Amino acid sequence: MSGDPNGIQPRSKGQIKVVHIYPREMSIYGDLGNTRCLESRLRWHGYEPLIHQHHPGNDFPKDAHLVLGGGGQDSGQARVQDDLAHNSEVLRELAADGTAMLMICGMYQLFGNTFITIEGERLPGIGILDVTTQGNAKRMIGPVVLDTDYGDVVGYENHSGSTELGSGQRPFGRVKSGMGNNGTDKTEGAVTGSVFGSYLHGPVLPANPAFADALIKLAVERALGEPFLPGQIDDEIADQARLRQVRRLAG
Ligand code: GLN
Repeated sequence: MSGDPNGIQPRSKGQIKVVHIYPREMSIYGDLGNTRCLESRLRWHGYEPLIHQHHPGNDFPKDAHLVLGGGGQDSGQARVQDDLAHNSEVLRELAADGTAMLMICGMYQLFGNTFITIEGERLPGIGILDVTTQGNAKRMIGPVVLDTDYGDVVGYENHSGSTELGSGQRPFGRVKSGMGNNGTDKTEGAVTGSVFGSYLHGPVLPANPAFADALIKLAVERALGEPFLPGQIDDEIADQARLRQVRRLAG
């Protein structure tokens, strides 16, 4: 643990505001764990996390440094779409300004252009990611291993949506095991600037510390205007768990 033996805590390196969008409607696959992971890791690195939950009917905070969104059922996505449209301009401005964002599954789909459900309902996205999603009768469910800029990333997918990347859209990773965006083109997720979309639940961040710290680095350097100064964190258990999934599925 940090702090000296007399119990005096060292001064924080700075405050980082983390906003979780729609935690009631869009976190039914445990993705709130990503926010809890970043809260802990920020503290272990010596920063002061300020955690804020955005619920429908409120203006999205313009002072967000890190934005997280999770997965949900088609009905949950339909419930948040009006509020998402109301706050789309602020979110697009934050994204264009380099704010770190991680949108998982249902929120990933809504940060794209459109999500057409299996029943044919057309849910408009806010177009931060150039992706388009079509619901399918056959769900894509199971463990996933990706090759990414942060090394192997592991997680779990459960989606009906099949997502196609726009011509210039960069994927988050290449599928080594699992289905990914659509089970066909071996891509998974999407990245534009500091905005990441992915189908990986788990929650994805605790099992993939390098990716979690990459998001923290982006947030710290934009918020504080100075280099990220990482602390010493023992990720041995997470690394063992991730390597076990990699060896089992893609070894
Ligand atoms: N409802 C969307 C789908 O089935 C998203 C699911 C999710 O968020 N896990 O594709």
